[in-house]
Amino acid sequence: MPLPIAHSLLAGALYETSPVANSRTGWKMLLLFAVLACLPDIDFLPGFLMGEPGRFHRHYLSHSLGAAIVVGFITATVYCWWKKERFLQFFLLFFCVYFSHVALDYFSIDSHFPYGVPMFWPLSDSYVVAQTPIFLAIKKPGASAQFFQNLMSLHNLLAVLWEVVVFVPVFAAIRFFKKRRQVVLTVEFAESAENQQIPATIQE
Ligand SMILES: [Zn+2]
Repeated sequence: MPLPIAHSLLAGALYETSPVANSRTGWKMLLLFAVLACLPDIDFLPGFLMGEPGRFHRHYLSHSLGAAIVVGFITATVYCWWKKERFLQFFLLFFCVYFSHVALDYFSIDSHFPYGVPMFWPLSDSYVVAQTPIFLAIKKPGASAQFFQNLMSLHNLLAVLWEVVVFVPVFAAIRFFKKRRQVVLTVEFAESAENQQIPATIQE
């Protein structure tokens, strides 16, 4: 399962392609995206506090369609009430960002039971995992005391580097298409401004 780095990078990619990118919400919305994209792994916390971080990890339903709908609904309700925004757009955005975590875990090598994620709960209770994974497994320590220390292994460092490598072309593509769209919009604006000036020239 990827580390928060990959989940945050995907959240960043979703932010860059969303209608709220570079809006007045700015980095605060980007931060909210990153938090939502990492939130399913909150199921590490109770086990971590009990001295065994993986004890509840993916044993319950934080990695599922149902959880994405509930979290998307609650986050959009609070955000739209606070910011007086339209609900549906933000519900879909927050749902997609949360569910992006589940999708990324689905495309990862899983070396710990339960294998995969209950991706489609409540439609199905089955745990699913991609036959052709993209991301490497992360070696996690069994005890909380060595949790952060053991995360710093060479294997995990390589896994992180691979996560970054995977997202380089994603961000390059986003940048390319955004630049291209900017050029098209600039040309369209220049043409429309030129067309509006023609009657004035004729009158002269
Ligand atoms: Zn996860």
